[in-house]
Amino acid sequence: MSHGPIIEEIHIYQHNLPVKNGSYTMANAEVWALDTTLVKIVATDGTEGWGETCPVGPTYAEAHALGARAALIHMAQDLIGKPLWPLVLQRKMHSLLNGHNYAKAAIDIAAHDLLGKLLEIRVADFLGGAVTERVPSYYATGVGAPDEIARLAADKRDEGYPRLQVKVGGRPVELDIETIRKVWEQIKNSGMRLAVDGNRGWTTRDALRVSRECPDIPFIMEQPCNTVEDLQKIRPQVTHAIYMDESSVDLNTVISAAGAGLVDGFGMKVTRIGGLTNMRSFRDICEARNLPHTCDDAWGGDIIAAACVHVAATVRPDLCEGAWVAAPYIDGHYDPENGIRIESGFIALPEGPGLGVTPNPEIFGDPVASFQA
Ligand SMILES: [Mg+2]
Repeated sequence: MSHGPIIEEIHIYQHNLPVKNGSYTMANAEVWALDTTLVKIVATDGTEGWGETCPVGPTYAEAHALGARAALIHMAQDLIGKPLWPLVLQRKMHSLLNGHNYAKAAIDIAAHDLLGKLLEIRVADFLGGAVTERVPSYYATGVGAPDEIARLAADKRDEGYPRLQVKVGGRPVELDIETIRKVWEQIKNSGMRLAVDGNRGWTTRDALRVSRECPDIPFIMEQPCNTVEDLQKIRPQVTHAIYMDESSVDLNTVISAAGAGLVDGFGMKVTRIGGLTNMRSFRDICEARNLPHTCDDAWGGDIIAAACVHVAATVRPDLCEGAWVAAPYIDGHYDPENGIRIESGFIALPEGPGLGVTPNPEIFGDPVASFQA
C-alpha cells in the first residue's frame, strides 16, 4: 500500500526582485533589490510544487539569502525519496538541520502547493478551509518625511485599504510623532486602522514618549523595541496595544508571549515561523487567545504572496489584520496571469489548485542546485 506522494526531485533557483521607485527604508535596513530563493519539488508522478523564501536584505533578521540557499542545499539530498506530508517533512528537516526556519519554509510551502495540486484543492482548504475569497491587505509606508507619509496615507485611504502601517524609528523620535499626527489627520474619520511599526528601532525611552504624547490616537505599536525584555519593560507603562513581530521567531516564543499577556497581537511572517505548517499552529494559538495577527512575509514574489493569502483566508475574520505582500513595491510577476495583485486594498484568493500560482520558470534561469534520486 502506498503511503502518499514521494519527493523525486528538488531544484533551487536564485532570482533578483527589483524594488520599484528607488529604495525601501526601515529603521535598520535599506534595500534596492531583493535576492529571493525559489524551490521546485517534483513528485514521483511529475507533479510540481513551488516554494520561496526572501529575507529583506541581510540586516533585517537573522536570515540572509546565501544562508537560505546553503541550508536548502545542505538538506535537499536527504529529502529525496521522503514523503511529502508537511508534518513528517518538518520533522525530517529538523533532524537534518537545527533552526534555519526561513529556509525550511520554502520546502514546506512547496510541499503544500504540490499536495494541493495532487488533491485538487486549494492550499487554504488544505489549511482548514477558506472563510473568505477576499483577503484584506494593508499598506506599509517606508520611513519618510511627515508630510510625504501623510500624503501617501491619504492616497491609500482613497484606494480602499482597510489598514495602514507606518514605519518609524532610526531617526529623532520627534519626527516619528509628527508623522503619526499628520497621518492620523488624514485617516481618522475613514475607518482605516493604523499600525505604527518600529521594526525594533526605538529605545524604550522613545516608545514611552510616543505613547505618552499620542494618547488620543488609537494605533497599535508593532515591535517598537529590539528585545522581549524591552517589551516587558514598556508593557505596564504604555496605553497603546503592542504587537510583536520580529521577536516572535518561533512557536515557543509565541506561546510564551501570548501566555504571559505580553502582547495584544502579532505581525507574523510565514517564512520566519518555518512555513505553512507552523503558521497553521500559530493561527490556532492566536485564536485560542483571541489575539489578532497579520499573515505576511518579509518580502518575496508571487509564491510567497500566495502562501500569505491562502493562510490569511483561513484566519477568523475578526482576528485577521491582513496579508501584506510585496507586489506593490516590486516590478513584474512570476505568473503573468494569476500573480497576486492588490485591488482596492484587498486580494482575491487564488483559485488553486495548490497555491494557484504557476511561475514561468524561464524567469529564474538554470537552477543553482538540483537533487534527484
Ligand atoms: Mg512589522
